[in-house]
Amino acid sequence: MQGLEVPDVERWSERVVVVRGLNPGWFTGPGTNTFLIGTGRRPLLLDTGAGKAGYIPLLEGALAEHCGTDAPGDVLLTHVHPDHIGGAADVLARFGPRRVSKLPWPGRDERFDVVLTPAADGDIFRTEGATLHALYTPGHAQDHLCYWLEEERALFTGDVILGAGTTVIPTEGGDMGLYLATLERLLDLDLDRIYPAHGPAIDAPHAKIREYLEHRLARESQIVEALEDGVDEIGPIVERIYVDTPRELYPAAGQSVRAHLLKLEREGRAARADTGPDAERWTAL
Ligand SMILES: [Zn+2]
Repeated sequence: MQGLEVPDVERWSERVVVVRGLNPGWFTGPGTNTFLIGTGRRPLLLDTGAGKAGYIPLLEGALAEHCGTDAPGDVLLTHVHPDHIGGAADVLARFGPRRVSKLPWPGRDERFDVVLTPAADGDIFRTEGATLHALYTPGHAQDHLCYWLEEERALFTGDVILGAGTTVIPTEGGDMGLYLATLERLLDLDLDRIYPAHGPAIDAPHAKIREYLEHRLARESQIVEALEDGVDEIGPIVERIYVDTPRELYPAAGQSVRAHLLKLEREGRAARADTGPDAERWTAL
């Protein structure tokens, strides 16, 4: 996904404007997408980028040019990862206090100097021209919310589904079993589009969700095969199955592999020798 050329500000629909977080990289692709949502003078701001210099002027310009206004309304967050919440303090400092809603992650939210309002599955957020429904979607992060935009039957997927590449299931707060259940839940939604937090919009949402499910199950099969062949450590498993992946992404791939192994362990399909986190050895059952 790195190297995708995208404009810093782009209108995706009559009520959705994307403003990039200006934080391109291996894990963020062209950078985090933040969104101004609505048709009135106080559009909701969904996610705030990483707190990069340049983001606030970019946001000001997008508000003036695309929304005909000088400030966003309330702020919504998909999850606490720094490339989503990291700009929140700057937004409040520039535009003044406003509500910042997210699903709480006690112990992690406190790393960011922002007063947060708890949000939960089923909450509804309204502004002129837009109605957003929060959906609890754990797996990539334990506090992850997606937001379904009623007027467009579109889903803001945060890091659950990306515009390119696949999602990392991190060791801290990630869970492969929950992630697969989240994807199954998203398949049941009435959806015309996906607006991901990284990369371009997705016009065939159900096909993309199925592709993600199939990809994870394919990885799981590869991991089971590796175990059956006697490859018993995460590093060598990554070397064996992530042959088309840049090595810079191997540590992240290792976290996703471990998330698969923990799921297999819970299902009684793999076992872990108790040799500590740095020298875990795994076998197929
Ligand atoms: Zn994330």
